[in-house]
Amino acid sequence: APVLVWFRDDLRLADNPALARAAGSGAPVICLYIRETPTGSQRAMGAAAGWWLAQSLRALDASLRGLGNSLVLRSGTAGEVITDVAAATGARTVLWNRRYDAGGIAIDKALKTALRSEGLEAASLPGNLLREPWEVKSAAGEPMKVFSPFWRAHQRLGDIRVPLRAPRALPAFEGPLPSEDLESWKLEPTRPNWASDFPQVWTPGEAGAQARLTTFLDEELAGYADGRDRPDRPSTSRLSPHLRFGEISPVQIWHQAHIAAGMNHGRDLAKFLAELGWREFAYHLLFHWPTLASDNFQPRFDGFPWRSDTASLRAWQRGLTGYPLVDAGMRQLWRTGWMHNRVRMVVASFLVKHLLVDWREGERWFWDTLVDADVANNPASWQWVAGSGADAAPYFRIFNPVLQGEKFDPGGDYVRGWVPELAALPAAAIHAPWKAPTAVLEKAGVTLGETYPAPIVDHDAARERALAALSEIRDAT
Ligand code: FAD
Repeated sequence: APVLVWFRDDLRLADNPALARAAGSGAPVICLYIRETPTGSQRAMGAAAGWWLAQSLRALDASLRGLGNSLVLRSGTAGEVITDVAAATGARTVLWNRRYDAGGIAIDKALKTALRSEGLEAASLPGNLLREPWEVKSAAGEPMKVFSPFWRAHQRLGDIRVPLRAPRALPAFEGPLPSEDLESWKLEPTRPNWASDFPQVWTPGEAGAQARLTTFLDEELAGYADGRDRPDRPSTSRLSPHLRFGEISPVQIWHQAHIAAGMNHGRDLAKFLAELGWREFAYHLLFHWPTLASDNFQPRFDGFPWRSDTASLRAWQRGLTGYPLVDAGMRQLWRTGWMHNRVRMVVASFLVKHLLVDWREGERWFWDTLVDADVANNPASWQWVAGSGADAAPYFRIFNPVLQGEKFDPGGDYVRGWVPELAALPAAAIHAPWKAPTAVLEKAGVTLGETYPAPIVDHDAARERALAALSEIRDAT
């Protein structure tokens, strides 16, 4: 009987435990992807991630065809689709790699019970994290809320497992097995095609992920510890969307990074691995606190006096706040589906602190516009910036977008790249054009309020307002 592998956030052949087990059985393998109708607390995929998914599924199908197999596409609820496919093909075994959001876990558990009660074998395997979220515990055996001890405990657990090889053969199921047409899912935008720049920036799929990792390790890992804060340079791995869709596993990255680093750059390697650690930590939090995306981790923030301010929210979304670094980031996000981490922190802080808009509004916008929109990383990072999260940045630490720009984009090249109307300004004026002498603005063709917005809030006033709002909840628990 054939074995059914249900692909989800693991669109790769190498180091794919479910696929490896199926291939090892020697039986025909059915490779299935389900466009799930969201149920319970499951979130519908955002639009930019949908674009990525379409490319990634095509790449996976092409790789499977190289092995004489192919990807079967279906839509519906997982329970119904899998029961159908198993009944139609006589599959007796269903395998998948785990997910960690409450909605997904509930579906997988129910499915496992249903399949087993029919006498089928169903197994979920660990494939998308370095360690399972429940393996890392405090000395008292509790879930952990602070990153540094979490990461130390994680590392104390010993070696990371060795990555699995891609199967060399994958016998196909020979019977009739209809597949839906990917085009009919309409994952890619047409009118307007807001993703038109994406293909120049990204190569989704397992081969693209491996190529990105290789380039990063060869050219960018050396210097990463200091360089990672510089949005004006290619300073980080840009592996996040590949990791989001499981085109590469953190276990593969872990091992390849160790090999590439050799004895040379200990500090750079440690810093890079710690970023993978933040991803592990976000999944740990999501697993133990399943409402991370909807509820303040610190309940005292439930009483926070958020403002409802549609005009400011829109200005932020469109990159028209009048703060060049913020606007550059929001436009990079719109044009490429990605934003540099330093700038993510600055724009998120600006929304939550300068504009006093609820972090959930920002989280939703990111969810829809990021190609790496991640069930754990996105809400965990938003709560971290907002100050409502576990081990969060203290709320009173309010980023000054001008100083952040001067420090991390000192020549102004990042702003010039994404905010062309300011491109002719010299570095000394580009992060705060409203302070520049009129002659400088004139020479650069900048008229504030016309060619580029004046700041929608004054930094000092916004800072005072944010601190006053914080004092309303400071003593609550
Ligand atoms: P690198 O610096 O090369 O890091 C390597 C990998 O480590 C990343 O690919 C990512 O998987 C992981 N990582 C790095 N930083 C973090 C972090 N702070 N938290 C968790 N994992 C991290 N990351 C997402 O993957 N998806 C999101 O939806 C997301 N939303 C964010 C929202 C906000 C407000 C902020 C401040 C950060 C968010 N991040 C998110 C974290 C981080 O910004 C991105 O992971 C990073 O910018 C991706 O670029 P990179 O792959 O070049 O990172």
